[in-house]
Amino acid sequence: MFSAVSHSPDLPDRYVCERCHAVYAGTVVRDDDDTRHFEAPSECAACGSTAFVAFEQYVHADV
Ligand SMILES: [Zn+2]
Repeated sequence: MFSAVSHSPDLPDRYVCERCHAVYAGTVVRDDDDTRHFEAPSECAACGSTAFVAFEQYVHADV
C-alpha cells in the first residue's frame, strides 16, 4: 500500500460514519500541485450514509 516516499508525515486521516460508527481510512486525493490530502469516503459501505465526522472530532465529542 504505502511506498517509501517519506518527506511528509501523511498518515491517513480517519473518519467515522455518523450513523453506524464504522471507521474508515481517508481516501487519498491528489491535487493539481501534486500534494495529497485525505477525504472522507463518499458513502458508508455498511449503511449507505454519506455523513462522516473526522475521527478526532468524533472522539472528543463523544467522551
Ligand atoms: Zn455507516
